Amino acid sequence: MASPVFIDHDYDVVVVGAGGAGLRATFGAVAEGLKTACLTKVFPTRSHTVAAQGGVGAALGNMAEDKWEWHMYDTVKGSDWLGDQDAIEYMCREAIPAVQELEHFGVPFSRTDDGKIYQRPFGGHMRNFGEAPVQRACAAADRTGHAILHTLYQQSLKYKAKFFIEFFTLDLIMEDGACRGVVAWNLDDGTLHRFRAHQTIMATGGYGRAYFSCTSAHTCTGDGNAMVARAGLPLQDMEFVQFHPTGIYGAGCLITEGARGEGGYLTNSEGERFMERYAPNAKDLASRDVVSRAMTMEIREGRGVGKDNDHIYLHLEHLGGDVLHKRLPGITETARVFSGVDATKDPIPVLPTVHYNMGGIPTNYMGEVINPTADDPDRIVPGLMAVGECASVSVHGANRLGTNSLLDLVVFGRAAAKRCAQTITPDTTHAPLPAGAGEAAVANLEWLRNAKGPRATSEIRLDLQKAMQTEAAVFRTAESLSEGVKRVDAIAETVADIKLADRSLVFNTDLVEALELQNLLACAKATVHSAEARTESRGAHAREDYPDRDDQTWMKHSLAWVEPETGAVTLDYRPVHTYTLTKDIEYIAPQKRVY
Ligand SMILES: Cc1cc2nc3c(=O)[nH]c(=O)nc-3n(C[C@H](O)[C@H](O)[C@H](O)COP(=O)(O)OP(=O)(O)OC[C@H]3O[C@@H](n4cnc5c(N)ncnc54)[C@H](O)[C@@H]3O)c2cc1C
Repeated sequence: MASPVFIDHDYDVVVVGAGGAGLRATFGAVAEGLKTACLTKVFPTRSHTVAAQGGVGAALGNMAEDKWEWHMYDTVKGSDWLGDQDAIEYMCREAIPAVQELEHFGVPFSRTDDGKIYQRPFGGHMRNFGEAPVQRACAAADRTGHAILHTLYQQSLKYKAKFFIEFFTLDLIMEDGACRGVVAWNLDDGTLHRFRAHQTIMATGGYGRAYFSCTSAHTCTGDGNAMVARAGLPLQDMEFVQFHPTGIYGAGCLITEGARGEGGYLTNSEGERFMERYAPNAKDLASRDVVSRAMTMEIREGRGVGKDNDHIYLHLEHLGGDVLHKRLPGITETARVFSGVDATKDPIPVLPTVHYNMGGIPTNYMGEVINPTADDPDRIVPGLMAVGECASVSVHGANRLGTNSLLDLVVFGRAAAKRCAQTITPDTTHAPLPAGAGEAAVANLEWLRNAKGPRATSEIRLDLQKAMQTEAAVFRTAESLSEGVKRVDAIAETVADIKLADRSLVFNTDLVEALELQNLLACAKATVHSAEARTESRGAHAREDYPDRDDQTWMKHSLAWVEPETGAVTLDYRPVHTYTLTKDIEYIAPQKRVY
């Protein structure tokens, strides 16, 4: 193959991704006087952040007393003591100014009668260190992500940030363990581009699409995670996949936890409000992992609803049309369209559905990516940062609390921009790229584009999604996980048999999906291998054969390297940060996690 022709660009900062995290980092860096480019495979306001419903968490105390210390306690407990407490302290303190900043940027939050930001109860949000539910989720009806993403995009336009829209980023450009930039393919005209940057910030979102039933957009394929893995760097805590209790049965679309926050509740086939048995205190507002497991137990024990007894009912009808119309208009419509139910009259059929990836690219609380050594578990990768769902800071640990993701996007997007300002002198000259930079990524693109094997991308992807759905589910065992490892590894091999129909380089969605499949596979491998190794139950990782949390052996972050050539997975571990950032609050020692 002749050497590919690249169009080269130089920036101080390159951000990959234009969801909430990417946009906040992008205009933050521009505001710091840095020459910044944002690359995105979809138009910014189509990023999955647009679909977020329930709210963004901050202890504003608009409805009743609340404190960032309580928010921190809930987040540590929610994480099942796998979260890093320095980062959690940073996020929960910064939450208050971050949401006020969003308000000043123009986010149209719902309001209380006296004009303050409206806050609703949410799963695991409690007052006074776990005592009783508190109203902490700042909401714009049930379209909070939509409101935030559009506002952040408007801010980016105000700052005249430079966007490269429908640029599919293929890979990182690495040299001597440092990131030098990225290589990307312009979907619109088929040209290939290299971007040099002093800092590259990954903000590429999650990989929910590795599963058959998930709430995330088709674009959530873990591209950034896979790029980092291909660069020889580890992914962290990938076994922790959050199942949201209330995906619509069959369709998988989300019904926000805010629905239970507003007073909705779950019942089984006996009409029983079973959450009272599993979480006597928080009931339907226990953490997501707890509610998803309770629902799964009810179904397994024969108390599921519907003709196959295979789902659960979510009741909102008692709230009345006015509340549904004012506070939950989006999900009322979603229920009608995707399950044919009029939520003002009948319960909505729901089932736990894959929703969020706690794991991802390991970073510190400033967004810098970590590549640990035995001597230095917090060693930084020069030139590389990650923010948002693709990152594992880790503030969510083994289980994320609802509303803490929208929060993490803005808090760490901003922190990353500030860190860039501290570490980059604007407009410093770039060293030349290493010989052959970007060529391996283009060789892979060319191989896929011309692939003539027997199997379509969609067939291989479906195999993967089914394997993940059955073998790495809400409950896991040694058998299911070793089967998962075998199946996923074998499916990854079949990419050699892939067939593409479209050979063009211009808006070739066939080729995009094949690249995304490769990325999903890298994420899935890291997930099942890490899950098989972790012989305990913690947060979203529930092992039937190891039902207890084992802090002695397992209070540590998993690291998984996916060898790019052979696909072999290597595992190692790094310590959880058992210290806070400041002396204002003490380390919260592990306790039994009850709701
Ligand atoms: C239905 C739903 C409801 C939710 N509700 C809430 C909620 O109420 N509160 C809450 O806190 N959290 C919620 N979450 C979680 C939260 O919305 C997400 O975790 C968060 O929005 C992810 O944001 P992000 O910026 O990291 O990534 P995304 O918004 O997913 O954006 C990813 C970006 O990366 C770009 N990208 C990806 N790959 C490439 C590539 N190869 N090349 C170029 N660009 C690329 C995409 O174009 C996109 O711009 C919800 C999630 C879902 C699915």
